Formats: sequence, structure tokens, C-alpha cells
Amino acid sequence: MGIAQRSEVRSQRSDNLEKSARSVKSAVRNLKPLWKCPKCGERFTGRNMWHSCGKFSLQDLFAHSEPRVRKIFRKFSRLVRSCGRSRMIPQKSRVAFQVRMRFAGATPRKSCLICHFILPRRIEDRRFHKVETFGPRCHGHYLRIDSERDLDGDVAGWLKQAYEVGQQKQLL
Ligand SMILES: [Zn+2]
Repeated sequence: MGIAQRSEVRSQRSDNLEKSARSVKSAVRNLKPLWKCPKCGERFTGRNMWHSCGKFSLQDLFAHSEPRVRKIFRKFSRLVRSCGRSRMIPQKSRVAFQVRMRFAGATPRKSCLICHFILPRRIEDRRFHKVETFGPRCHGHYLRIDSERDLDGDVAGWLKQAYEVGQQKQLL
């Protein structure tokens, strides 16, 4: 076999390998390990994803809010935690909750808490003042919470769905 023929066989083989590698890769792409930012240690599904890359504290975040907003947040984070394990990540203006993906968060205002979470489909409900579509199964829902009582069974149910988005369950 000449050199040219040999290299053609080799390139065909590597083509096939690439093809099967691609299909395996697309099947399990959501099982790959999370990328860890070398600077701040936060974890992401993709490399070099944009993030605030810093350490923020809950104390700073709630510094300009009335004490009851912090109490509302405590109840919100209890609801989030009741869905399963997740990481709480205080950021510059919000707190995010992450399993693999970030699926929920809260933004403190002076006298209320804006709660948000990702649902796999848009839900029409008067309680949401904003719904933002990021992808076909990725819709951010925003909800203004004025008292702990507003964090009711509906919110708990939505958070459970959001948690599954965070686990990327629909893709497995
Ligand atoms: Zn970082």
C-alpha cells in the first residue's frame, strides 16, 4: 500500500470515529463535568461563561433592604432547599441557586423581594410581572413578593419544576 492510500484509510477511520464521537457527545453532553472558574471557583455547564466572578455576601446584598425582606428571602431559600441540594451563590445584585444550571434566584429591593426561576414552558399567571424566554425550554419567570405569605404552594410547585430544569433532567 502506498503512502497516499494509507493516509486515506487513516482519514476515513478518523472520520468515522469523529462521527460516532459526535453522536455520543450529543447524547451525553449534559453529563459532562461542570467547568470551574479558576478565579472564583463558581461552576458552570460551559467553559468561560460570563459571570460576576467575585465574592459577594448576603449581608451586602440586603444592606439597603428592610429587615423583613431578609426574612422573606429566608423563607424563599427554605422553599428552594426543600426541592433538593443546590448551591446558593450571592452575586452583586441577586442571589442565584444552582444545581447544574442556575434555576432560581432572588433580587432584594428596599421593601420587597423579586423572586425568579426558570420553567420549561411559559406559564400565564397574573402573579408574574415578567416572563423572559431564553430558549425553547428555558423561560425566566419573575414574581414580586411583599410578604412571606405570598410564598405559598404555587411558588413551591413552580420551584420544584425549576429545580428539575436546574438538574437538566429533561435532557437526560
Ligand atoms: Zn469566576
